[in-house]
Amino acid sequence: MITGDLELLKQRIPLLHYLQQRHWTARRVGAHPEFVGLCPLHPETHPSFYVNARKNLFYCHGCGRGGDLIRLVELSLGLSFRQSVAYLQQQIPAPSDPGVLERVVSFCQLQLHRHPQAVQYLQQRGLCDPAIIEELGVGYAPGGSLRNHLTTQGYAFDQLLAIGLINPQGRDTFCRRVIFPLRQQGLLGNLYGRSIGSAFPHRFLPRRSKGGLFAWDSVSCCSSVILVEGVFDLAVLWQAGFRNTTSALGSHLTSTQFDQLCNAPGRLVYIAFDQDESLAGQHAAQELAARLESMGIAAPIVRLPAGHDPNSYYLAGATAADFATCLQAAQRL
Ligand SMILES: [Zn+2]
Repeated sequence: MITGDLELLKQRIPLLHYLQQRHWTARRVGAHPEFVGLCPLHPETHPSFYVNARKNLFYCHGCGRGGDLIRLVELSLGLSFRQSVAYLQQQIPAPSDPGVLERVVSFCQLQLHRHPQAVQYLQQRGLCDPAIIEELGVGYAPGGSLRNHLTTQGYAFDQLLAIGLINPQGRDTFCRRVIFPLRQQGLLGNLYGRSIGSAFPHRFLPRRSKGGLFAWDSVSCCSSVILVEGVFDLAVLWQAGFRNTTSALGSHLTSTQFDQLCNAPGRLVYIAFDQDESLAGQHAAQELAARLESMGIAAPIVRLPAGHDPNSYYLAGATAADFATCLQAAQRL
C-alpha cells in the first residue's frame, strides 16, 4: 500500500474520534489539543493514556506503548498491520456517488502523466495541447489500481460494483483507457473511456445516459457551433482554433443533446460527422439536419474529403484554413 493512501485513511478516521466512538472518556490537558484517559490496552485505575489530537498519535505512560491509529488497532484487536488497515477501511462512512466520480477523474488525471503510452496515444490522435488536455479533464485509467485507490478512500466494494467501476471479479472496468469526464453545468454525470489497446474502443459507465453534449458548458453561448461525433474530432478542432465545437459522443443524439442545440433561436449548427464508407455518418447527419431545420435551426452539413472525419483529416495534415474552407462550402439540405 502507498504511504499517501495510509495518511488519507488516518485523516478520514481521526484517532480521537475513533476512541470516542468506542466510549473512551478523556479530559483535556492544558491548552494543547491533548487528552488523557484510562489506557484501553492495559488495566489501570489512574489515567496515563495520552492522545495528541493534532498529531493523531497516542502514548501510554503506564504500558509504554504508543503510535498511530493503525498501531492502536493492531494492539487492541490483536490484528496484523494489513488486517488493521482492512478493518479501518470498513469503518469509513460510505461517501456519496458524485464524490466518487470526481475522485476517479482526479486519480486518472494524475495517472495520465505517469503513463507515457497514454500521452503517446493522445499525440497519435492529434491531441497535444496541454491546456486543452487540462481543460477537458483528460485522464488515464491504467487498470489494476483504481479499485485499490478508492477502497483506501473508504468506498465499499459493493458501491464500486454498483456504479460499474469494478466488475464482480473486483477488476477495474476502465483498463488501459483514456478517460474523459462528461459534465453538464459542472456536474459530473458519466465517464467516457477510449481504449488505447485492442479492447472495444468505447466504454461508458453502465445504467447512465451519456447525458448532454460534450464540453457544452463552454460552447453553449456560441451563436454558431460545429457538431462532431467524437471527442478527438473535437480536440483537434479546438486546437485548430474552432472552440465552438461540441461532440455528441456518437452520431445518434440523446433528446437532451438535441434540445441543447435548439435552445438558442437563430443558432447555426454545422454538422461535421464522419465521411465513412458505410455512409452511416452521412445518413445520421442528413436525418439530424432535417430535424434541426424543422425546429428553425439552420444546419449545414460539412463535407470532408472521402473517408475522413475531422480527426483523421487533421492528422492527414489539414490546417485551420482547410477546415474553414469546408465550413464555408457546407450546404443546407
Ligand atoms: Zn497502557
